[in-house]
Amino acid sequence: MLAQPIQKLIEAFTRLPGVGPKTAQRFTIHLLKSGRGEVVRLERALEDLLQNIRSCEICHNFSDMSPCEICSDSRRDQTMICVVAEPQDVIAIEKSGTYKGVYHVLRGVIDPLIDAMPQQMKLAELMERAPGATEIIFALDPTIEGEVTVQYLSKRLAREGLAISRLATGIPSGGSVEYADEITLGSAFKARQKV
Ligand SMILES: [Zn+2]
Repeated sequence: MLAQPIQKLIEAFTRLPGVGPKTAQRFTIHLLKSGRGEVVRLERALEDLLQNIRSCEICHNFSDMSPCEICSDSRRDQTMICVVAEPQDVIAIEKSGTYKGVYHVLRGVIDPLIDAMPQQMKLAELMERAPGATEIIFALDPTIEGEVTVQYLSKRLAREGLAISRLATGIPSGGSVEYADEITLGSAFKARQKV
């Protein structure tokens, strides 16, 4: 029904996370309607991404330089490594403005249902960095996959002189005790703080 170039672009959008066929179609028709300027802007942004963004050789976050800005910042504690699953987790933590160490982006978490490690995960790279660290902080989602990943890595990283911790989980600010699930309430009790 649709001309091939239109079909091809819809398919390309569908491969993006969170984009279903309907949304992909909307994006494509939007580009068709908005004309050349919008398409060229998108084309240039993609080209710029391809040309200038690389994976940091130390933390595996995406950056326009390697080592990235965070890994080459001498004001940050280079011996404190916060382990996250995805680059967007670094953005979220950086926004909080409270963390002054560096990161390690795993590019995924271990899925206990699949009996193999995801190939692209930067697990061995973390092992290689670990001897230079004094503290490792896991900031992974409190899911089964996150839990399995923390267990797997902390067992292998454990050594004298290395502090290993994970972020506290609990009731989110603005949340409610009444509607919190039992796992959240359980960890909130464990991570309770003095007032
Ligand atoms: Zn880096």
